[in-house]
Amino acid sequence: MSDQKLATNALHAGHDTTQTGGTRAIPIYQTTSYVFNDTDHAANLFSLAELGFIYTRLNNPTNQILQERLAAIEGGVGAVVFASGTAAISTGLLTLLKAGDHIVASSSLYGGTFNLLNVTLPRLGITTTFVDASEPSNFKEAVKENTRAFFVESLGNPKLDVLDLKAISKEAKAAKVPFIVDNTVATPGLLNPIDHGANLVIHSLTKYINGNGTSLGGAIIDAGTFDWANGNFPEFTEPSAGYHGLVYSEALGAAAFTFKLILEGLRDFGGALSPFNAFQIIQGLETLPIRIKQHSENALELAEWLLGRDEVAWVNYPGLKGNKYYELAQEYLPKGQSGLVTFGVKGGFEAAKKLTDATKVFSLLANIGDTKSLIIHPASTTHQQLTEEQQESAGVSQDLIRLSVGLEDISDLKGDLEQAFAAIDKSVLA
Ligand SMILES: *Cc1c(COP(=O)(O)O)cnc(C)c1O
Repeated sequence: MSDQKLATNALHAGHDTTQTGGTRAIPIYQTTSYVFNDTDHAANLFSLAELGFIYTRLNNPTNQILQERLAAIEGGVGAVVFASGTAAISTGLLTLLKAGDHIVASSSLYGGTFNLLNVTLPRLGITTTFVDASEPSNFKEAVKENTRAFFVESLGNPKLDVLDLKAISKEAKAAKVPFIVDNTVATPGLLNPIDHGANLVIHSLTKYINGNGTSLGGAIIDAGTFDWANGNFPEFTEPSAGYHGLVYSEALGAAAFTFKLILEGLRDFGGALSPFNAFQIIQGLETLPIRIKQHSENALELAEWLLGRDEVAWVNYPGLKGNKYYELAQEYLPKGQSGLVTFGVKGGFEAAKKLTDATKVFSLLANIGDTKSLIIHPASTTHQQLTEEQQESAGVSQDLIRLSVGLEDISDLKGDLEQAFAAIDKSVLA
């Protein structure tokens, strides 16, 4: 299945209709547990002598189809789904790392991820150095003896910085650490980080993959390319105390981390995805390839239109000629640059709030990747808890407005912004 093209995989990968009673749609297996044939069968499942379903916290047939589909689409050997993108990131890092370990991360990250790395994980002894990811050698300079992961977003939210993934992956390889790429904003419809050296790919399925704002979900896709026996990860090469002496890299080879995520990450931290949400996310994933193309077209057209407005101080969209990331976007995102556009309003903080309050088609809310157009003023909301300096390195200025451009008719989106610009007191714009 994984040899097939994206649009075909989005519709078919992971689903063998003979295994689901011939259903063309994927059933919701709404069950917590699974009947064993007998005690020997049960013992074999628990010892991994035989693979099968035990309990939905670990796996579920609906979730399994979503996992196989995501692995096929991103080009991985396996995938594990979680209750949210945040559950995927926290469980992934806690499965991979221990107290005393260190991460090198891009400073341009989703606000929640930044707080996890900057405030919460240090409490557990896992620290992070944040670097300006536009210069790949910054990663090398930040590497310490205890560095065990690099973490970036392929298209940063909300800075919209396109990273030179190939160059950063080389630094990760030299440091003998896995290269983790959050691909939520770009989506596999536009970019496959594994093709550029990523070892693990993260998704908030909540965003473009589900696509209609109904369901939270997250995923980690394992490229199967990282050498866990390189000396930096003894928990993969020594008998696991948490799983009756299993030696992950010997027993499970390329899929070692995928299994560790299930057997330890989901078992011990419990952030499992509900099968109902998996079903919803599968419905969305089926149309991702055509949706993300249209999101990208609408975003580019709106960004060009914003450039011509007197009320606008600047526009940031990596598909705009002259944008700082235009060349990298042509290399890494040639099919489109996704649906996020940011711009500054003349008049700063107050004018940006005014404009945000005045839109009618754009919904003011804290999400991205919906079919409906969304708007937010990060400095007063999503990034409010950060210091001004942290906001700056995350690319959040006081006047910045983030649009998640939806699939409405483009003329209605322009019209809505036009009437919202008119609502700003002209004296503020001067
Ligand atoms: C939303 C988001 C997350 C977190 O995902 P949730 O599903 O909201 O927990 C992580 N990374 C990026 C880039 C996001 O946009």
